[in-house]
Amino acid sequence: MNKTIESERLYGANNYHPLPVVLVRGEGIYVWDDAGNRYTDMMSAYSAVSHGHCHPRLVKALTDQAHTLAIVSRAFYTDKLGLFLKKICEVTGLSKALPMNTGAEAVETALKAARKWAYTVKKVPSDQAEIIICRGNFHGRTIAIVGMSSEPQYRSGFGPFPPGFKQIPYGDIKALAEAITPNTAAFLVEPIQGENGIIVPPAGYLKACAELCQKNNVLLITDEIQTGMGRTGKFLASEHDGITPDCVVLGKALGGGLLPVSLFLSKKEVMDVFTPGDHGSTFGGNQLAAVVGLTAIDVLLEENLIEQAAKLGDYLMKRLRELKSPLITEIRGKGLLVGLEINPSYYSARELCLKLMKQGVLTKETHGTVIRLAPPLIITQEQLDVVIDAISHVLTEAEQEKKSALGEA
Ligand SMILES: *Cc1c(COP(=O)(O)O)cnc(C)c1O
Repeated sequence: MNKTIESERLYGANNYHPLPVVLVRGEGIYVWDDAGNRYTDMMSAYSAVSHGHCHPRLVKALTDQAHTLAIVSRAFYTDKLGLFLKKICEVTGLSKALPMNTGAEAVETALKAARKWAYTVKKVPSDQAEIIICRGNFHGRTIAIVGMSSEPQYRSGFGPFPPGFKQIPYGDIKALAEAITPNTAAFLVEPIQGENGIIVPPAGYLKACAELCQKNNVLLITDEIQTGMGRTGKFLASEHDGITPDCVVLGKALGGGLLPVSLFLSKKEVMDVFTPGDHGSTFGGNQLAAVVGLTAIDVLLEENLIEQAAKLGDYLMKRLRELKSPLITEIRGKGLLVGLEINPSYYSARELCLKLMKQGVLTKETHGTVIRLAPPLIITQEQLDVVIDAISHVLTEAEQEKKSALGEA
């Protein structure tokens, strides 16, 4: 076995099941393995690398700042954090932002904010606040967050979990209406369920959620860690519904593919529930993160990556539909967040990912039956054509291998 893989297996926890490739370099949409083979990265680190690998402007911002001032904690003011927070508030239309590092921490921040808002502003009786979440959600891996999950494996062996969460079916506005009580603090929802297999809710769902939440004095919190930062062809996916949520969680691509940078954003009334000592993070909002986050937003806007994601996402889905492969049962997505649902009678999504890898395309299965296609937003149509050709090749070959089985179907 490859020595690198061997030492990861020997000394690391067995909490991931990586494809058998050792990556050593990345540039733009490409990564290279230890044998010098080049791959197109159609995973983008679960959408964290929307700007492409080692974007020169982002690397320069990071290294310049690293030579100047990197970490001082929030015990002091620094010259960059305010600029970053101002920028993200201007771009999203929200009033205030609280910086964290990982997505899960920003989601935890949202849960704390919603609960404290419920007690101090909405006047919910002490310890009675409820937060509504959706079946099939993915919001991270902390104890509270896996406690909200409907995925048995994410929860199994990790209880007991904090109470105060109520689960409803995703995309079902009636279920939300029925779940809201006078003690409901918030409804936390993903505009598209990424980890659940790129599940797109019915058109107008978020708009209906926003109206219902507003009517009942319930906060609408969208987890845009994966769908935000232009991934779906708008800066925030909630813009497709023409709404501004009360609270938004961002992460992943906010770190420009270089650092973990996350934010909890909200209207003023919600953020104002926090007072010094209520919440914090040693690294949250550090100088490196602030500069990289600010530059990540600037690059997205100045390089027109959001328009590009909208246009190329439509193109990608159209081309994939034209393949008419009997191995694919559904193609879903928005912008450059696309899922191919594979007919599990013939192949697992992982088997097809391994075949794609041999054709120079890297991606990873989600939930066993879905192949995720989420390239860096800097990809060009020509580069996408090469990927589509590789997918077409793999599907045709796979189909031939199973020809008799498919013929009987
Ligand atoms: C990835 C993800 C998270 C968790 O982010 P981490 O940085 O891994 O903690 C939360 N919500 C959604 C929608 C995600 O895709």
